[in-house]
Amino acid sequence: MTPRWRTVAQASGLAAPDGTTRPTIFAEMTALAHATGAANLGQGFPDADGPAWIREAAVDAIRGGANQYPPGRGIPELRAAIAAHQLRHYGIELDPDREVLVTAGATEALAAAVTALAGPGDEVVTLEPFYDAHAAVIALAGATHVTVPLRPSSGGFRVDTVALAARVNERTRLILVNSPHNPTGTVLSDAELDAIAAAARRVGAIVITDEVYEHLVFGARPHRPIATLPGMAERTVTISSAGKTFSLTGWKIGWATGPAELIEALTAVKQFLTYSGGAPFQPAIARALTEGDPDIAELRNSLAARRDLLIAGLRAAGFSLVEPDGTYFVCADASPFFTAEVRDGAEFARALPALAGVACIPLSAFCHPGSDTAGALASWVRFTFVKDEATLLAAIERLAQLTPRPTH
Ligand SMILES: *Cc1c(COP(=O)(O)O)cnc(C)c1O
Repeated sequence: MTPRWRTVAQASGLAAPDGTTRPTIFAEMTALAHATGAANLGQGFPDADGPAWIREAAVDAIRGGANQYPPGRGIPELRAAIAAHQLRHYGIELDPDREVLVTAGATEALAAAVTALAGPGDEVVTLEPFYDAHAAVIALAGATHVTVPLRPSSGGFRVDTVALAARVNERTRLILVNSPHNPTGTVLSDAELDAIAAAARRVGAIVITDEVYEHLVFGARPHRPIATLPGMAERTVTISSAGKTFSLTGWKIGWATGPAELIEALTAVKQFLTYSGGAPFQPAIARALTEGDPDIAELRNSLAARRDLLIAGLRAAGFSLVEPDGTYFVCADASPFFTAEVRDGAEFARALPALAGVACIPLSAFCHPGSDTAGALASWVRFTFVKDEATLLAAIERLAQLTPRPTH
C-alpha cells in the first residue's frame, strides 16, 4: 500500500516504509514466548510487583483525592524527595523548584531532553549497543546519531575511548550516556566517565545521562553519576525513574534533574507532551524515595543472587558471557550453538523458543543495522534475570538441553 502522506515516523525510520508500526524485537520475542510457552528472558520487566506499602500509598492517594492534574513540574513533595535522594546518595545539591522536573517515566524525560536540546544538523553521541528509545528520540529530533562502540572483554563491555575522542567534535550537541548500561550490564568505570566528561567539556556538549538502573549495581564499585565529575554539574541533565528501582515499571514516574536553564528547556517541551500525569503515584513515589532504601537494598540483593544463578546456568549450558555489574541483564555469545540454519544471534533468538523453550533478545537489536558494532556483536544475545527463581531455574534446565558445537 502506498501511503497518502509521509509521516515523521516514516521519514525517521521509526515506522515501516508503508507507514505501519514496526513491531519492536521485544514485542516480537514476547509474542513468540507466549505462543510457545517459553520462559521469557527477553523483555526486561519484573514478574513480581514492588513493595506492598508503596502500592498501598498510591491506593490511599486515590482515596484521598489525588485524581486531577498534578502540577506540570510534579508535586512539591516528590520534587523535594528527588532532590533529597540526589543529596543523600551522591552529594548533588538541587533546588527542587527549578532544578527538578517530574516526567512520565524516564522515557518522557529522554524525549523532552533530546528534542529540546538537539535538532537537524546536530550530532548526538551514544554508546553502541544502545537502548532502543535513545535512537528513536534522536531520530524524532531530526538529529544525527553517532555511536561509540562498547567492546566485550574479560573485564566487561568497555568503551572504545579512542573512538570516543574521535567522534565527539564541534557538531556534537549532546552525549547521551547510559550507566548502568542496558543491554550490556556495564557500569562505566571512573576512567570511562572521565573520558566522556573530558570530551563533553572539550566541545561544550551537554551530557544527558540515563541512570534508571542507578540502584541495581552488584559489584564493589557503586554507581557514580557523571554530574558529580568536575565541571559537569553545569552541563548535565540526569534522568532516572521509579520503575526499575521499585519494580513498578507500569507507573511511569520519572524525573530529570540538572541546571535550572536546562530543566526549563525540558519543561517547555514536556508541558506539551503529557503536561502532567500519575497524580496518585507521585505521592507514593515521594514516600518510596524517602523511606524505601531498605526495599532498594532487598531488591539489589535478590537481583544479585538471580544474576549469579543465571550466569552459572548459562555457563553450564556452554555459553561464554560477560558478567554484568548492574541492570537486569546478562549478555552471552551464542556462537557455540550455531548451525547451518542458525547463523547469528538474531536467528538464534528466533529459534530458541522452539529449540529450548526460552526467549532472549539479539544484541543486534540494540545496534545500527550494518554497523561495525552490529557486526562485532552479531553472535551475542541478551537474557534478563529479573524473573522469579522458578522461571530462571526452568529456563536453565531447558538451556542445559542445548548441545554446543564441539570445540577443537
Ligand atoms: C526501562 C528503561 C527506561 C524506561 O524507563 P521508564 O521510566 O519506564 O520510562 C529508560 N532507559 C533505560 C536504559 C531502560 O532500561
